[in-house]
Amino acid sequence: MKTRIVKAIGDPEADREVMEEAGRIIRSGGLVAIPTETVYGLAGDALNPRSAGKIYETKGRPSDNPLIVHIADTGSIGRIARDIPDMAYRLAEAYWPGPLTMVLNKTDAVPKETTGGLDTVAVRLPVNKIAREFIAASGGYIAAPSANLSGKPSCTRASHCIEDLDGKIEMIIDGGEVGIGLESTIVDLTEERPCILRQGYINEEMLHSVLGDVRTDPPESAHPKAPGMKYRHYAPGGVLSIVKGKRESVIARINELAASHKERGESCAVISASENASEYGNVIVKDAGSLRNEDEIARRIFSILRELDSDGVQYIYSENFDTPRLGAAITDRMNRAAGFCVINATEED
Ligand code: AMP
Ligand code: MG
Repeated sequence: MKTRIVKAIGDPEADREVMEEAGRIIRSGGLVAIPTETVYGLAGDALNPRSAGKIYETKGRPSDNPLIVHIADTGSIGRIARDIPDMAYRLAEAYWPGPLTMVLNKTDAVPKETTGGLDTVAVRLPVNKIAREFIAASGGYIAAPSANLSGKPSCTRASHCIEDLDGKIEMIIDGGEVGIGLESTIVDLTEERPCILRQGYINEEMLHSVLGDVRTDPPESAHPKAPGMKYRHYAPGGVLSIVKGKRESVIARINELAASHKERGESCAVISASENASEYGNVIVKDAGSLRNEDEIARRIFSILRELDSDGVQYIYSENFDTPRLGAAITDRMNRAAGFCVINATEED
């Protein structure tokens, strides 16, 4: 299949032809990769069971891992969700459009293929203008998991989608680099007590301020409530470990490890905060951004994992980016990418 790669800028006039074409593709059961504010999504018609099947097949995603349904306005929610609790409207008021996904009880309009066999549906209203033009042009209900092949780091630029999907889908819409770079926060509202299933830009404190009470699904649970959380994610080809502890101990331990890889003739890289980048020797240094600018770290982290992949680096050590606002979400993605291989440099000193 020939994949059309087209640009959009988020202006309805300028993007009209692209959106008309994209809408035709979706309505006839095809797939389009689209930018959103979180990461690029692989979009299909959420109400067409065959489109869901195509998404799973194209990504190599297990079909028990449900897809998030994206809508273009809050009013659309009634067709796909039922028994919507008041807290959903309060969250929508506070954080929609935006990087927050709510899990609700589904209606019969949503096929089980889209929800991985579950009776619930995950819903998000993105803020990205291109995404919203696209959803509106495509019938209003778009299933869009992250556009990466299953297991690989999410796509934060159109070039990442081309790496993974060229020749496999009808169209890729290039809307430039995404703003956030981490997938949406997911909160389950189907039980009395709301539960965070995946950390993201809307952090625990922000949810707490609206909901009062909220708990978190444990990160290494064998039976996570978001089925996708049980799969290995975001993994680069090399062996990735996270090194945490006091700054000096982390730097010393990574330098020690890098020296021993060098001795053995193995390639090695470190993912570092800008503040520490000049402290490393014998190693490729990937500067993730300043600790004073955690948004930049979030935006760059998947891109760095992809770069290390294409460079074929064998061993990767990352500092632990435990920043105040986005630290929980960044750490979650990095720990998963590392298969939870975390070295505590301070403890073993
Ligand atoms: P991705 O599309 O790659 O961002 O992943 C979507 C995440 O949402 C996965 O971890 C899914 O398991 C989770 N998810 C989607 N729908 C539901 C649902 N109905 N209940 C719980 N988790 C869901
Ligand atoms: Mg994903």
